[in-house]
Amino acid sequence: MKALTYHGSKDVRVESVPDPVLLQPDDIILRVTATAICGSDLHLYRGKIPEVHDGDILGHEFMGIVEDAGPGVTAVRKGDRVVIPFVIACGQCFHCRLDEYSACETTNTGKGAAMNQKGIRPPAALFGYSHLYGGVAGGQAEYVRVPMANVGPFAVPDALPDEQVLFLSDILPTGYQAAVDAGVGAGSTVAIFGAGPVGLMAAACCRMLGAAEIFMVDHHPYRLQFAQRAYGVIPIDFDEQDDPAGIIVEQTQGRGVDVSIDAVGFEAKGSRLETALTTLKLEGSSGAALRQCIAATRRCGTVSVPGVYAGFIHGFLFGDAFDKGLTFKMGQTHVQKLMPELLEHIGNGRLDPQAIITHRLPLAEAARAYAIFDGKEEDCRKVVLTP
Ligand code: NAD
Ligand code: ZN
Ligand code: ZN
Repeated sequence: MKALTYHGSKDVRVESVPDPVLLQPDDIILRVTATAICGSDLHLYRGKIPEVHDGDILGHEFMGIVEDAGPGVTAVRKGDRVVIPFVIACGQCFHCRLDEYSACETTNTGKGAAMNQKGIRPPAALFGYSHLYGGVAGGQAEYVRVPMANVGPFAVPDALPDEQVLFLSDILPTGYQAAVDAGVGAGSTVAIFGAGPVGLMAAACCRMLGAAEIFMVDHHPYRLQFAQRAYGVIPIDFDEQDDPAGIIVEQTQGRGVDVSIDAVGFEAKGSRLETALTTLKLEGSSGAALRQCIAATRRCGTVSVPGVYAGFIHGFLFGDAFDKGLTFKMGQTHVQKLMPELLEHIGNGRLDPQAIITHRLPLAEAARAYAIFDGKEEDCRKVVLTP
């Protein structure tokens, strides 16, 4: 079969690789009908995530048709059309029973990314996301083996096209969890940093949850303009405005917003020093977006962090967070928990995730698709690949 494989920083290729086979009784083989490139894939593409090996198949946002099922699979059967959560969870361990699927203790044969681990178990395995997260082959491929098929695969109605349900796999629950965990509700004021796909999904969900005011910060005018049109955000371009948090505080009676959402992560732009230090690995993550979030949030508010972070940040103003009495929420998304309610919102028209798609390419052109999405070329917001 054909699959998108990693060969080093900015070197991905569509190649012929062996077809996947069933390995466990509760595995399925999925024929992929649609797969997206996620902002998390860009961290791998840029060579910033350790333990991605030459030839690894990438991709963790995908859906398709069940092609084959092991004898232990009871939840789905051959021919079912399903969306696959990017998190692989067993459904039975301590964390899964608490609906904390991305903390599943049993699926990851890797060691996770925490530096000071004290021997605790790693978090859940993720598709196509380095050997720290299990080295599981990803879904930017014609076929993919899906482990734990009684827990993950989520059947979707035929009436909804692939593009409208595909993001249930990752960015939609990620944006939703970021908002819900932070308590966004009727009348909330919110600042979202990052107008990429995750920031856009967060904006859509905040709007749906009744937020009164949503500020959105980025430096790509085309992304900000879309968010303004689609979700009514107040755009702030950080290339034009040195201190977006200052403006946000000013426009919220000098207090700051109830909730800030960091949909940027560890490659945040804005501090040349931190960008240089992270490249030299003297700093684990850039703290530029996180500092803005802390500064933009009102006393006793919440900073919610779907953006991915790694290692240490020297310029993390924990004292400011303490002084303001902030709450932090963060982590990989508990996708399995959120899929059913989000499908309902798509079905009843309250969410329209496909609206963010700008690029549709065949899997064969996936390498070019990565370059376009990474380079923000052609006003790219989100790419969907079809095998
Ligand atoms: P993306 O790279 O397309 O978007 C990031 C956006 O942030 C870009 O538009 C960029 O211009 C902007 N940005 C950069 N520096 C900024 C700054 N200092 N302030 C404001 N904006 C800034 O990616 P995406 O798909 O939207 O993903 C965003 C983050 O979410 C990534 O870190 C990704 O790994 C993470 N993610 C996490 C989960 C999860 O489960 N927690 C799931 C999916 C994605
Ligand atoms: Zn992702
Ligand atoms: Zn589990």
